[in-house]
Amino acid sequence: MKTKYVFVLGGVTSSLGKGIISASLAKLLQARGLRVTIQKFDPYINIDPGTLNPYEHGECYVTEDGAETDLDLGHYERFLNVYTSKANNVTTGRVYQTVIQKEREGAFLGKTVQVIPHITDEIKRRMLLLGKTGDYDVVISEIGGTVGDIESQPFVEAIRQLQWEMDDEDCVVLHLTLVPFLNAAKELKTKPTQHSVRMLQQNGLQPDIIVCRTEHHLTPDIRKKIALFCNVKYNAVIESIDARSIYEVPLRMMDEKLDEIVIEKLHLKNAAKPDLKEWKKFLDKLCHPKHEVNVALVGKYVELQDAYKSILESFIHAGAANECKVNVHSLHSESVTESTVAEKLQGMHAVLVAPGFGERGLEGKIAAVRYAREHKIPFLGICLGMQMAVIEYARHVLGYTDAMTTEVEPGTGHPVIDLMADQKRLTIKGGTMRLGAYACALQKGSLACRIYGKEQIKERHRHRYEVNSDYVAEFEQHGLFASGKNVETGLVEIVELRDHPFFIGVQFHPELKSTAENPHPLFVALVKAASEAI
Ligand code: GLN
Repeated sequence: MKTKYVFVLGGVTSSLGKGIISASLAKLLQARGLRVTIQKFDPYINIDPGTLNPYEHGECYVTEDGAETDLDLGHYERFLNVYTSKANNVTTGRVYQTVIQKEREGAFLGKTVQVIPHITDEIKRRMLLLGKTGDYDVVISEIGGTVGDIESQPFVEAIRQLQWEMDDEDCVVLHLTLVPFLNAAKELKTKPTQHSVRMLQQNGLQPDIIVCRTEHHLTPDIRKKIALFCNVKYNAVIESIDARSIYEVPLRMMDEKLDEIVIEKLHLKNAAKPDLKEWKKFLDKLCHPKHEVNVALVGKYVELQDAYKSILESFIHAGAANECKVNVHSLHSESVTESTVAEKLQGMHAVLVAPGFGERGLEGKIAAVRYAREHKIPFLGICLGMQMAVIEYARHVLGYTDAMTTEVEPGTGHPVIDLMADQKRLTIKGGTMRLGAYACALQKGSLACRIYGKEQIKERHRHRYEVNSDYVAEFEQHGLFASGKNVETGLVEIVELRDHPFFIGVQFHPELKSTAENPHPLFVALVKAASEAI
């Protein structure tokens, strides 16, 4: 079967949830037996979001093959339960880099290199790339930003050309807009949607489907108005009303028959009846928790929910698996000190110390680890959180009061967390961390091994610093032991504590592999331990 394409563009404002709509549509098509993938095109000039501060665009999501990508790829994986890859995230920077490199190689000798056709051709090439593998029936391409932005123009033009080049039944253009409710007038307003669609039309692009984000139900009149003025069929105006949980959106989209419209337009004759049994089971558990736990999330980006997106979602998955509502209490690591920690962690049934970079908030993280260790509160430290657990142990159990990571104190007398030799040589920041999936061997009988239920795992990484192997023997003598080690290098990937009900630090990011239908065992076990701590 020929691969079909869906293009998703947003209008009116950002943050309407294009990623969730794309993932929901993909889920519905997948539930009908189709092979689907989603890719994200980001109009910014960074080559990838790896060098961006989380305050800019939220967390950086790392794929199995080590690409640093937009957090929407996390939604794709969490909804579809299949891996994405480097090819699934493309930025303007990446597109220009390829074109400029080709120019230097002489690929366009004699020609003026221009946005049209050279940049748009490269965008088109990448839009079709995953489809060419033959692995997918449908490829959904989401375009970041909002229609009308200067930087998204080449992407809109590329889609226009593809829409023109392809047969009618090979592509669908979906436009997501906002239908605001004016409280004073007590009315839903369609004008912003009309303007947004007109802007698309000015660029030669006609949407086939309009998905309207709204806080109130769309009346038939409103739907008619949008259909008429935006030149789409009545049933192609889809209501996307605020949902209790993002995981409900696929079902809402099914009620609105979004999948049926796409299937009809794309002539997807082999689409089966949707099977959402597992999804509904997950949702049912999510919506009907039998008890609650309180978990502290200690980090320095807590003001911004998107900075810890995958961790928060992992707790939702693990909560559902335990039929338990997980109340995540964000604690700013700068507000935690030796004297405030007891009060801050009061009532918490588990503590998660978050990943991060740089010096800010480190001491707060160390204080939180110490409290969890000494008071036997279930603890999970991720990446920097694990590194802080190692430092805390070195300081307060081994007595190395100056123990530190060389990330913030290169001259420390006890560099228990240190840069590996291959990292020391690097001068370039972008894309040079230890990235992507690495195999890790688990020590038989350890808590980690029991939780995973196997002796070898593969988890995703994003860091430069490592536990310094010179100290491992000493740590182990006292009770902090390496229960997981990198299969090839022997580097420490997991530490855990003897004589503690649940104390685990992981150098990798388990949150990147948790999905709705396949919750991560470490999070499931942490929530379980938290429930038992009540
Ligand atoms: N800053 C630490 C390192 O680079 C931890 C990174 C992280 O938490 N992702 O090793």
